[in-house]
Amino acid sequence: MSGPAQPEIPLAQPVLGAEEEERVLEVLRSGQLSLGPRVSAFEEAFAAWVGAPHGSAVSSGTAGLHLALRAAGVSDGDEVVTSPFSFVASANVIAFERATPVFADVDPRTLNLDPQAAAAAITERTTALLPVHIFGYPADLPAFERMGLPIVEDACEALGARHADGIAVGARGHATSFGFYANKQLTTGEGGMVLTGDPATKDRVDSERNQGRAPDMGWLDHDRLGFNYRMTDLQAAIGIAQLERLAGMLTDRRQVAHWYAETLQELSTELGVGLPCENSGGDERGWFVWVVQVPPGVDRDQTILGLRAHGVQSKPYLPAIHLMSFYRERYGHRPGAFPVCEDVAARSVALPFFPAMTRDQVERVSSALSAVLTEA
Ligand SMILES: *Cc1c(COP(=O)(O)O)cnc(C)c1O
Repeated sequence: MSGPAQPEIPLAQPVLGAEEEERVLEVLRSGQLSLGPRVSAFEEAFAAWVGAPHGSAVSSGTAGLHLALRAAGVSDGDEVVTSPFSFVASANVIAFERATPVFADVDPRTLNLDPQAAAAAITERTTALLPVHIFGYPADLPAFERMGLPIVEDACEALGARHADGIAVGARGHATSFGFYANKQLTTGEGGMVLTGDPATKDRVDSERNQGRAPDMGWLDHDRLGFNYRMTDLQAAIGIAQLERLAGMLTDRRQVAHWYAETLQELSTELGVGLPCENSGGDERGWFVWVVQVPPGVDRDQTILGLRAHGVQSKPYLPAIHLMSFYRERYGHRPGAFPVCEDVAARSVALPFFPAMTRDQVERVSSALSAVLTEA
């Protein structure tokens, strides 16, 4: 096989322009890089965009999940029911607080935590539920709300998603964390935001991101344990510029997703490639990644190598958390515990997906995948 004739198609690519540059320069020239006015401006604009009463900007989506979980009252020896099919951060934050992540299997269609499996995993030590809106598809929050436990939502992949009842993901009132790493729908380089409907949660997150300092207290007077999880004004300035172009970036992502669905339909029917589920019952995905599942029996890792030889970046996405070595060793998990998650995790491949992707690039990815799967 000859090498790629065209430049490699990357997995992800942020949209950045003169607007971001100008706003970052303004901050640099102002001399106030931290604890300045941009952080609260970004918090207010982001919360308003999603439709939530309060926002607290933090240094990452992981930091946001951690503080949200603390605000929900999770501590030593508690159990938190969550999804094993997620980025490792959503389980790690539970371990940060010396609580136990209790996994339950996922729904084979949406790949989100299955409410029935979650209900079966609840014990008297369960103090919270941590559903993840995986790949931007809304988790079944109405079902989790009926369980009557505090909920922390991982919406790090779900900006722009909406539940069937019309409420945006992040606007139901539970503490919900969004992440702004460079591949997310909106980026600040690194960064995150906790949205909540509860003013006490907002106050606690604001304090704990800043070493436990109460807002009305003098410098260096701290009434609780806290962290340095602050967002800088440079990051907030980028966030404000990104928010202004967010609607357009989400429209572009939907367009690329549509092209993928069109071009991969045949591969799906002929070879059994699994495609992302379509919106159903009024739920709307906030497009983050385009993940396919290779047909059962096909070597996923070989498929990734094959795609690379065709100039297409891809990666296994996501591995099952309970089978990672830290989780196996600390909690004694074994293969077979969560069969739906394990099957999907073994066959999932994230394909290139970003707002500026062209139809031609989508077609190149599609023919590369077709070639790799039929050569195999
Ligand atoms: C990206 C992501 C996170 C963590 O976000 P960071 O900003 O990288 O800390 C958490 N959960 C999920 C599902 C994610 O995709």
